Amino acid sequence: MDTAEIRRRFVAHFERDGHTPVPSASLLLDDPNLLFVNAGMVPFKPYFLGQETPPYTRAASVQKCVRTPDIEDVGKTSRHGTFFEMCGNFSFGDYFKEHAIELAWDLVTKSQADGGWGFDESKLYPSILDGDDEALHLWKKITGLPDDRIARLGPKENYWSMGVPGPGGPCSELLIDRGPAYGPDGDFSAEDRYLEFWNLVFMQDELSAVRSKEDFDIAGSLPKKNIDTGMGLERVAFLTQGVDNMYEIDVMFPVIQMAEQLSGRRYGADPEDDIRFRVVADHVRSSMMLISDGVTPGNEARGYVLRRLLRRAVRSMRLLGYEDPALPELMPISRDKMGETYTALHQDWERISTVAYAEEQAFRQTLRAGTSIFDLATTELKESGGTQLSGDKAFALHDTYGFPIDITLEMAAEQGLSVDEEGFRRLMNEQRQRAKDDARSKKGAHRDASAYREVADSMGHAVEFTGYDVTTDEG
Ligand code: ATP
Ligand code: MG
Ligand code: MG
Ligand code: MG
Repeated sequence: MDTAEIRRRFVAHFERDGHTPVPSASLLLDDPNLLFVNAGMVPFKPYFLGQETPPYTRAASVQKCVRTPDIEDVGKTSRHGTFFEMCGNFSFGDYFKEHAIELAWDLVTKSQADGGWGFDESKLYPSILDGDDEALHLWKKITGLPDDRIARLGPKENYWSMGVPGPGGPCSELLIDRGPAYGPDGDFSAEDRYLEFWNLVFMQDELSAVRSKEDFDIAGSLPKKNIDTGMGLERVAFLTQGVDNMYEIDVMFPVIQMAEQLSGRRYGADPEDDIRFRVVADHVRSSMMLISDGVTPGNEARGYVLRRLLRRAVRSMRLLGYEDPALPELMPISRDKMGETYTALHQDWERISTVAYAEEQAFRQTLRAGTSIFDLATTELKESGGTQLSGDKAFALHDTYGFPIDITLEMAAEQGLSVDEEGFRRLMNEQRQRAKDDARSKKGAHRDASAYREVADSMGHAVEFTGYDVTTDEG
């Protein structure tokens, strides 16, 4: 089944059951707590919070999502994209646990000839929140599975809330066992073996306080109980397409194939290269989808994420040995695949491609300028008999010329030199602290700065560019 077919079947399954199909919202909804829409329920929040009355009691959607905190997992796990599509069914005070479980189990186990996923029941493991006896009983009743096939997980995995007082509730997940090659028997923390592909949230509690994922106070029951589910389209695609991971599915793999052609390296030959190929496939797609929804590269939160994704894609191609402009070769491949569903990619291509390619050009310029400074610094160092580039120099390259530290490290290694990384990190932290203090002292700037920093921190330590001023919002 190609991804388009999985999407169609998902929506049809729920439409047959009285759900109104709702098109995906933009990735950029106005929500003070979110940079990007990161789950199918986000556009429905006003209904779940009782702020607005929904025009339907049952809905189904396939929502575009971006999760920046997952960036470090991309290409390393089988299942994390920065961009992905979440299929979801929603009940607003209508059906609850029993029917939600029935609907999910039916779609997952129905044969492909009958319009389902055709998953082998003997490999499926529902999970519940330990103590949710109602869910335990229902799973056993509906699936006929024995008690020991139902995983009991703690609140960290299986209790949902928005992190603030308001609605909350236990979850059930559907996991599929991919076999001993991916982890030990019965170890549900081996998440690439017992792969989660669907999460069912049973919104039933009214929370009066949320201190952490595991520490919250339930004040009582919600007057109207809701259902919110999320199924990863790419995860079902890779499970049904017989490939190893989400980057190899029909709408993503062609980008890897083009990257193979360009670089002359083969996917599957070297584990480090494979991660780079998968990062390329993911980042090219997510940056294209972000630009399509109106983000432009910049130094403020959303623009920073986009810049980082684009530069990381270009950088990964460079590490694969390809140094010419890569995006004009790769992004049209992703457009042709994603454009079947998201036709705006075709209509708006002129603008999208211009934004993406200009950012690659800017990055190439940065690399060129930084390289001459780097060469000067290493020549001096060698003349004086040194073997370690100082933290100061690495920091100046980064801070003044926007030269990524990982490139400094790589180029130094090529010349048999080391870099005082610890000194570099110390200077980075000092700068970060100064920026924080500065932001705090400027009225109104604090929120932007902390949002920005949260993103930067969640994207790992190898901050790849600079030139931003955290106290301004340059867009
Ligand atoms: P995981 O534990 O694998 O990180 P999750 O528990 O964070 O997943 P949920 O928040 O429950 O995921 O989201 C619902 C569904 O969306 C997941 O069951 C999965 O199928 C899909 N999903 C979540 N994050 C990603 C991602 N980064 N890339 C692709 N699919 C995802
Ligand atoms: Mg996750
Ligand atoms: Mg999970
Ligand atoms: Mg989950």
